[in-house]
Amino acid sequence: MLRDIKTNKRTKIVATVSPQTCTPEFVRALYNAGMDAVRINSAHVDFDGAKKIVETVRQVSETIGVILDTKGPEIRTTALAAECSKGIAVNTGDRLTIRGSKEGKECNGKEIYLNENNIIPNVPVGAHILIDDGDIELIVLEKTENSLTVSAGNSGVIKGRKSVNIPHVDIDLPSITERDREFILWGIKNDIDFIAHSFVRSKEDVLAVKKIIQEHNSPIKIISKIENQQGVDHLDEIISVTYGVMVARGDLGVELPAERIPITQREIVRKCIASKTPVIIATQMLHSMITNPRPTRAEISDIANAVYERVDAIMLSGETAAGKYPVEAVETMTRVAQEIESDDTNNAPNIDLTMVRINNEITAQLARSAVRASINLPIKAILIDTLSGRTGRYIAAFRGSKPVYAVCWRKSVARRLSISYGVHAIYQEPSEFPKGLSISFLYYLEEKNFVSKEDLVVVIGGSFGSNKGASYMEIGNILNMELKSLDQ
Ligand code: PEP
Repeated sequence: MLRDIKTNKRTKIVATVSPQTCTPEFVRALYNAGMDAVRINSAHVDFDGAKKIVETVRQVSETIGVILDTKGPEIRTTALAAECSKGIAVNTGDRLTIRGSKEGKECNGKEIYLNENNIIPNVPVGAHILIDDGDIELIVLEKTENSLTVSAGNSGVIKGRKSVNIPHVDIDLPSITERDREFILWGIKNDIDFIAHSFVRSKEDVLAVKKIIQEHNSPIKIISKIENQQGVDHLDEIISVTYGVMVARGDLGVELPAERIPITQREIVRKCIASKTPVIIATQMLHSMITNPRPTRAEISDIANAVYERVDAIMLSGETAAGKYPVEAVETMTRVAQEIESDDTNNAPNIDLTMVRINNEITAQLARSAVRASINLPIKAILIDTLSGRTGRYIAAFRGSKPVYAVCWRKSVARRLSISYGVHAIYQEPSEFPKGLSISFLYYLEEKNFVSKEDLVVVIGGSFGSNKGASYMEIGNILNMELKSLDQ
């Protein structure tokens, strides 16, 4: 089933959901408000919770994509010792010792332990260690083989199991933790659609996840979360092996000076569009709506900028996972996306179709031609059928303004397109359009009021066999096609 035309928008919405609030009514409300894909954050759920989310989402719609977010190779403080269970208070200039302890030795008033053993040798004197999303800054004054002496750059309270960022320092951490591996295997067993892998620093991190997926013959696709300078520096090689990219601005905003984020975001989005890689913008898009029913003007502008940049998807985290106004947050995103997408003033920047690389691929050339046709002619929609989702993803890359209706012969492919710009996927049993894609699908779209008999549409399909990819493009309307079938 295609969703109600009222929620039609081109920019997709990903909502993070937690097991505590995940009921069919809740997911249906998010979906009806415009949510396209659900994210499960494995940092905050166990297997039972994750299973509950997947089962509930699948009950609501077979085309909602499910993204499982790993914790990735992240550094955290260990738990606090009993005597300082409320936190370790530090004042500016206080001196502390930092050590690594994979075994989980507890932090106490004088020593702070980090969750990995091999961090200390990588950290030079002068480095800044940021704890709890940068709330506490520690500056390294001295180091020995296995400890750092640091001075607090500001006053605050150090808590247990909090994030630790060390900007501009390359730490030799494994690509996948044991817990991540278990979650990836769980995701494979439970037929989830995407693994969003955290802290991807190079293509090796992506390939490590891919290896597990391939060993199990799974169709799961990888979204690389770019959240530190190394990830930004190696973006080209990461794009060459990943399916999608997430601009994870939470950690990125700690690792990079905050004022670099807008520039970095634009750079990542531009590279992703050029290489036909789905790109998601994440974190704090409507942060104030965790507690307030109305967003700030700045948040609306942030969403609007992402929509103007033509990202594939925008994401909600705490707003929908734990906030007081989750459905309102999705509705807000939908309204902003619809408004900005229909801006026909000269202010709306257009994507230059030639910036998207064809790379000698027929499907990409057809996708560009279809979008070009939809600019030059009064085209109402683009229709495709897609075996792997590639034709849909490629058309999305050209960021046309006309809706793309995609018939998918596999549910997993329909769900995969949930993060592709402007593509509305519908799952069909292969036998349900017996007369061929174009005419029967057009009748279906007409019946649901997505097109009328006179509307011109572009059709892309393949006539060289089911796995040979797209090979032709046609332009016409239902009236033409009815005439054509009378002729035959
Ligand atoms: C982020 O850091 O912006 C992000 C999306 O990751 P997480 O929510 O896992 O911190």
